[in-house]
Amino acid sequence: MNGPRIEITPPDLRPYREGNSGIPYVWSFDSGRAGPHVGINALIHGNELSGAWALVRLLELGLRPQCGRLSLSFANIDAFSRFDAADPTASRFVEEDMNRLWRPELLDGPATTVELRRARELLPHFRALDFLLDLHSMQTASAPLLLCGLTPKARRFARRMGYPAVVVADAGHPGGVRLIDYGAFGAPRKKPVAVLLEAGQHWARSSIDVALAGCLHFLRATAVLDPELAMRLAPTRAGGRQRFIEVTHAVTVRRGPFLFKDGFRGLEVIDRAGTTIATDGGEPVRTPYDRCVLVMPSRRLAPGLTAVRLGREVPPPRI
Ligand SMILES: [Zn+2]
Repeated sequence: MNGPRIEITPPDLRPYREGNSGIPYVWSFDSGRAGPHVGINALIHGNELSGAWALVRLLELGLRPQCGRLSLSFANIDAFSRFDAADPTASRFVEEDMNRLWRPELLDGPATTVELRRARELLPHFRALDFLLDLHSMQTASAPLLLCGLTPKARRFARRMGYPAVVVADAGHPGGVRLIDYGAFGAPRKKPVAVLLEAGQHWARSSIDVALAGCLHFLRATAVLDPELAMRLAPTRAGGRQRFIEVTHAVTVRRGPFLFKDGFRGLEVIDRAGTTIATDGGEPVRTPYDRCVLVMPSRRLAPGLTAVRLGREVPPPRI
């Protein structure tokens, strides 16, 4: 079998276990001056190591906000601690996907899993944020993406971040609610705002650089760093073009086997409507319109899971 390349090992998070916020693995630094509370989170998926590395770098650098408050959190430590390079996908979660459970019915309900317990523990932290960057990575070596959900506020914020070059506006998964869509994050009022960075292939060394650059652009855009320092760390690319892709369809595996027609990695543009991109149980899966963009084709293709999203390029928002 031709498995994914594993170029990185998990960081040692033991020094960060205590936290300083009352919640294990949550670090919070208050500037003592008025300003937004901004949070960067890693390890909602335990096997996505680049985000954890980026937060370790920020903690080692000792970066502090000049106004407001900066919080750094590591979410699914239980899954992360099971990471095994021989079976790297297995530690995505322990009992259930931690990025599908951010619904009040579940969080306030009677069910108990490793992930629900940790989500409940982290909830007061996430609810206190004005801005959230949630760090993730992908199965394929696609270009990095910033996912901004469906709210105009997050789309405008993505424009303000200016990084990475591709922004995807999507509704998430039919299978459950993501953290960036939870409660007030997904509501139309101005704050809070949450975005999600897909930094590249899970275990590529370059994904750490992308995750760290994403953090720095996020901190510049939230204006919690000294402006001069922020511009040095994360310069806005003057005139740098960002592509905005609006997802119109999430293709869910129905019967399986789900077989892509090509080794898609993501962001391919399929020119003609009606082009067969995959088969699902022998039935063709066709593009619904011209210039259709494939977003994050999956390699986990069991019935009920999202196989790929389909979208179209739209003009960037005004800010
Ligand atoms: Zn993820």
